[in-house]
Amino acid sequence: MIRLLLVMSLSVLPVTACRSQQPEADPSTSTTPPPATDTTGATDGGAIALPAWRQHLLLREDERWAEALRIHFNALVVDGHVDTPMHLLDGYELGRRHRAFEAHIDLPRLFEGGLDAAFFSIYVPAALGEGAAAVRRARAMIAEVRRQVAALADSVEMAFSAADVRRITRAGKKAVLLGLEGGHALAASPDTLAALYAAGIRYVTLTHVNTNAWADASQTPPRHGGLNELGRTMIRTMNRLGVLVDLSHTADATFYDALAVSEAPVILSHSSTRALTDVVRNASDDMLRALATHGGVILINFHEPSVNRHLTPEVMDEVYRRLGGRTGDLRGLWNTIAEVRRERGLPRATLDDVLAHIDHAVRVAGIDHVGLGSDFDGAPMPAGLDDVTRLPWITYGLLRRGYTETDLYKLLGGNVLRVLEAAETTARRMAASPE
Ligand SMILES: [Zn+2]
Repeated sequence: MIRLLLVMSLSVLPVTACRSQQPEADPSTSTTPPPATDTTGATDGGAIALPAWRQHLLLREDERWAEALRIHFNALVVDGHVDTPMHLLDGYELGRRHRAFEAHIDLPRLFEGGLDAAFFSIYVPAALGEGAAAVRRARAMIAEVRRQVAALADSVEMAFSAADVRRITRAGKKAVLLGLEGGHALAASPDTLAALYAAGIRYVTLTHVNTNAWADASQTPPRHGGLNELGRTMIRTMNRLGVLVDLSHTADATFYDALAVSEAPVILSHSSTRALTDVVRNASDDMLRALATHGGVILINFHEPSVNRHLTPEVMDEVYRRLGGRTGDLRGLWNTIAEVRRERGLPRATLDDVLAHIDHAVRVAGIDHVGLGSDFDGAPMPAGLDDVTRLPWITYGLLRRGYTETDLYKLLGGNVLRVLEAAETTARRMAASPE
């Protein structure tokens, strides 16, 4: 009987494209209040926006879908890294629905997938160097994101703090945060960092694939043995401003140097685990433990080659052999991986692989130190995660693996918001007691 009622109530929920087109929902069926256990503000009480026919099919498949959908759409879901701004600069319209093969994210699909807030990556190609051209590119991208978000003000809003994210999502809108990838776009200047903070940047990925003037990357030869003195100044400046230190893409030595300097907990905005997929972009178990001890969070990357367990060190050796010295060429790396994978008949990674990486990170770092950092719109996706509308399948998969409702609120967004808050607290503390 209970199940029948649930099926009925789910099926009458509004099929939403975006908030501006959404009819006023019947309060008796639409919103599940946050559970009594939630004291973290990790829920937004959103309505289930998956089409009713799809909910019917899922519930016929497995009745646990009712709980998965309730939790997923109630949770405040945060993605640590999406590359949608790259498309926005090329004329892509955030407010218009697209198909999965065109791009992974737009506003209507954010509602359907129940993704409440995302760090939009302001990605600057290494080829633009480490001077004015790189900064110009970052500024142009920030301006375009802010222009498109402002034009869709009844459905989406810019967020500059964890409190902003909670306020915006509780009002039923989507929240857009900004992260900078990578540190070469700071033109080796803490003043540029402060200026980009003022423009909205709330994390800096210290490096992309390229080593810069102050930090070593994981995919190009080291120059500093980690961070140099300017690098340490950059970290202290980030702490003072309340900008999160993001250690995805950095060399292991940079990772440990940054942990030693940073007074605020750090993030890996889009990295998976090296124990399951042994590529330099992923975090080792030792790094996961150090990150947790420091209070930080790893946001698991869906990027297909980062979660494909068939990419053994032997396969990767073959990939790097074919690439010659071009290890900093990201596109070339993906293409070569795909080529070797095809030749050897190795399967594409799946949604289950992503769940396995989340599971492993939780086992090593703990439930308070893991979240999601998809790389949507910036990377090839595993089978079953074709675009942002597939996010409820992550929640369902984790529920099946035994995660509780409280665990899920942490993994889906609570943990990364806690770390953002900690960075804000550190900045206030440093402002109150300057050295
Ligand atoms: Zn990246």
